[in-house]
Amino acid sequence: MTRLIFLGPPGAGKGTQAQTLAKSCSIPHISTGDILRAAVAQKTDLGLKAQSYMEQGELVPDVLIIDLVRERLNQTDVKQGWILDGFPRTVGQAVSLDDMLKEINQTCDGVINFDVPDEILVTRLLGRGRLDDTESVIRHRLEVYREQTAPLIAFYRDRQQLVSVDGNQPIEAVNAHLKQLVYPD
Ligand code: AMP
Repeated sequence: MTRLIFLGPPGAGKGTQAQTLAKSCSIPHISTGDILRAAVAQKTDLGLKAQSYMEQGELVPDVLIIDLVRERLNQTDVKQGWILDGFPRTVGQAVSLDDMLKEINQTCDGVINFDVPDEILVTRLLGRGRLDDTESVIRHRLEVYREQTAPLIAFYRDRQQLVSVDGNQPIEAVNAHLKQLVYPD
């Protein structure tokens, strides 16, 4: 059983790593960014509400995200385990996640913190070419990360749940490190 939170700045490689690890563990990869992008593309209520925040590199309000995650965590496939990628992103979301996990009688096994220097992040994000990856939006997303999400590092470290991974390595090396953490023998 693997239940992990992937934490880190935009461009740290969380999504790529979460996708690969989730596949090898046969568990769902739950990316709030992917769910939101799908909602925007489908012009659902959530998508219409979230779109302008995403385009500006702001966080979508907690209340919208928490409802979205609660709904996802109540689907049956999460019984096998899960990787949360891009959630929680604020202390408020982390506190709500505790409540949601209690509601479904689950606990998180650990929080993986992806460490990557800022200049590498900007280069990577500029190369990705997503609509919200223009340089000014990228710089704003990094500021938002530092102000609103980085406090989660101390939050989970204080609970002894945090493990840091050097994300400034080739994809395969990061993947090998993660596998070693999940399957330690
Ligand atoms: P990501 O794909 O994780 O980089 O997310 C893309 C965008 O979706 C972010 O810049 C935010 O606008 C929004 N988003 C994704 N996850 C969250 C979250 N947990 N809380 C607030 N906004 C989020």
